[in-house]
This record gives sequence, structure tokens and C-alpha cells, in this order.
Amino acid sequence: MIMLSLDPRTIYLLTGLMGALMSVVLFFLRRSFPPTIKGLTEWAAAPAIIFVSILLLGARGAIPDFFSMVIANLVLLAGLALFYFGSQRFFGVPRSIRLWSGLILAAAPVLFWYTHVEPQYGIRLLVVSGLLTALSASHARVLLRHGPAGVATYLTASALLIQAGAQALRFVSALDMPADATLFNLSPVQTAYITTYTFSMLMVTIGVVLMATDKLRTEFEHLASHDSLTGALTRRALIDACERELERCQRKNHLMSLLMMDLDHFKAINDSHGHLAGDRVLVDFVARVTALLRRPDRFGRFGGEEFVALLPETSREDARIVAERIRADIASAGVQPWCTVSIGVATSSADDATVDALLARADAALYQAKAAGRNCVRTAA
Ligand code: GH3
Ligand code: MG
Ligand code: MG
Repeated sequence: MIMLSLDPRTIYLLTGLMGALMSVVLFFLRRSFPPTIKGLTEWAAAPAIIFVSILLLGARGAIPDFFSMVIANLVLLAGLALFYFGSQRFFGVPRSIRLWSGLILAAAPVLFWYTHVEPQYGIRLLVVSGLLTALSASHARVLLRHGPAGVATYLTASALLIQAGAQALRFVSALDMPADATLFNLSPVQTAYITTYTFSMLMVTIGVVLMATDKLRTEFEHLASHDSLTGALTRRALIDACERELERCQRKNHLMSLLMMDLDHFKAINDSHGHLAGDRVLVDFVARVTALLRRPDRFGRFGGEEFVALLPETSREDARIVAERIRADIASAGVQPWCTVSIGVATSSADDATVDALLARADAALYQAKAAGRNCVRTAA
């Protein structure tokens, strides 16, 4: 079996090379990602730094021990810590930079001592594997706590947990390590560790790429379904929501209501205060209405200063009460420039086979509200 006869140094080097390739991929990915997705720089740099540590570890014998043992392990710890900081930044949680740089710096003299003054592989291993176990486990914890439930999160977190497990095993094995043992002695634990490390490192890098693309997709979906000025749903997204809700109503024999709203004499606000002030009124209007709606309700911008609220499982009378509350809240807002709203209410009935029919009735009621002098609510027959 060729695989089994591979020298661990070769496997180690191949792993490092895979990491370096992943680093290149992540760097390119980072360039095409919006700056709202954070942590990619750390994720891209980490495998490259880990690759350097692997080169140093692999050059054991060819370069001074100070570099192949002390520096190599510190660089490895720094690379994995950087990976962890990337995830913390990705999820917007505070980074534990001080804690980990402190621990790594504290490990430096210990590693130096047990390499040069009193060489003991067992103790060095204890320090390095202990820190690596804690690092991988903390990293996995951040993912499981803050990551969305999904393949990307679980893949990355399980790879990190496997890594933590393998490191913990090394930690335990270090407790009764012969003093002359080295990294490339083929003890079963070492072989298991190197193999696990190879696969888990690859899984972690693939995992973070998946996590980043997942987040990008979520951001794009949000952009596509939300109005950029006010954050309300777009017309298309709201109509889709109405169609789903109407279908559910027809199946379950529920009621749903629509409130169609149009700001009164809005053109006058633009004309006298400027377009930017008009924009601010729209943003403020959406914030106020959203605060008055319930969780299952949906609120969308239909056109310039025209909005529609979808109220699932809401009777005509309840919808009228909600509409009146919105109207009164906007009328009493007291913020300058001043604006009021007219609202048309329509509630689904057996005749409303389509969303368009329901919208048309809400629109007719809105027209009546405008005709009645504005700043009022009218309900469709
Ligand atoms: P009414 O009471 O009959 O509804 O009068 P109105 O002035 O509100 O009605 P109209 O539909 O004539 O005017 C709507 C105005 O909304 C015209 C348009 O310039 C303005 N508008 C549309 N979209 C935006 C926007 O995104 N920002 C701003 N500032 N104004 C907008
Ligand atoms: Mg208007
Ligand atoms: Mg209008």
C-alpha cells in the first residue's frame, strides 16, 4: 500500500501545500466579496502562516532546532489563532486577541527552555497540544454558538472538534512520552494525529469558504427582497408573501387583510423641503409603521410613497383598528417636515381568488380615503 508507506514528513508537507493553495483561493475570494463580509483576510492569511510553520517543522535537522521547534510551534499556534480571530470577526463577536497572544507569548520561553536548556519533547508537546486543544475547541464553540444552522457551520465545527480531540489525545500521550521521542517517530498516536490534522485542516478551510458563500447568498437575498432606502420589502417580495398567505388562507379557511397606505401631499414635502428631506420622511414612516406591526406581519414599499402591509389571520375589524392606530401615530408624530397618511383596508373573502383582486379592493378603499379628505382610513366593502 503506497499510502501507508508514505513518510509522515511527506503527508505533513502535502497538508501544508493544500493549506497554501486554500490560502490563495481565499485571497481571491476575498477580493470579490463585499466588505460587509468580515474575517476573510484572517482566514486567507492563516493557512499561509500554518504552511510556513509546517515548512519549519519539516525542515527539522536541516535548520537549527530553534527554528524547527520553537519558532515552528509558535507560528503554528499563531496561524490557528488567526483562523479563530477570522471566525470571531466573521460573526461580529469580540476577538480574544489579547488572551491568545498572551498565551502564545508565554509559551515561547517554555518551549525555548525545553528545547535548548533541558530538551524534553514530552513537555513541549504538552504545552503545544494543550494550547491547540483549547484553541480548536474555543473556535468550534464560536461557530456553534453564532453560526447559522447548516452544513457549512457543522462541517467546520466538527472538523475543529476532531482537531481538538486529536490534540487532546496527543496531550494525554505526552504525559508518558519517552524523552527521546520526536514528531516524526511513527507512534500510533502521531500517525493518527498527522492524518487527522491533514483532513481536518482541509475541512476547516472548505468549511469557511462555504460559510462565506452562504453569508454572501443571504446578503444578496436580503438586497433583492428589501428596498434599499427604507429597508421595507420590495413590491415583488411583498406580492410573493401575499400569494403564499392567500393560498394558506384558502386552505385553512383563515382571513387575511391588506392595508394600502399612501402619504398625503408628499409631493409638497419634496417641493418645499427638498428630495433628501422627503427621503427621511419615508425612512421615518417605515420605522414607525414597522414598530406598530406584529411579528408575522409583512410590510413593503409598493411605489414611491405608497406602502402595503400584509396582516395574516386578521379580520376586517382588527385590520381597521391597526390601520387607525398607524394613521393616528403618523398624524401625531410631530416631526418636521409634517406628513399624514391615508389607508385603504381590504380583507380576503371567498371572492378574492387572486392577490390582484384583493389589492384592487385595498386600492379602491385608499382612493375613497383620499377623496374623503386624506389622513383617514376607509375599509373596502
Ligand atoms: P396625495 O395626497 O394625493 O397622495 O398627494 P401626493 O403628493 O403624495 O401624490 P403624488 O403621487 O402626486 O406624489 C408622490 C410624490 O412622491 C412624487 C414623487 O416625486 C415622490 N417620490 C416618489 N418616490 C420618492 C422617493 O424615493 N423619495 C422622495 N423624496 N420622493 C419620492
Ligand atoms: Mg401620496
Ligand atoms: Mg402616491
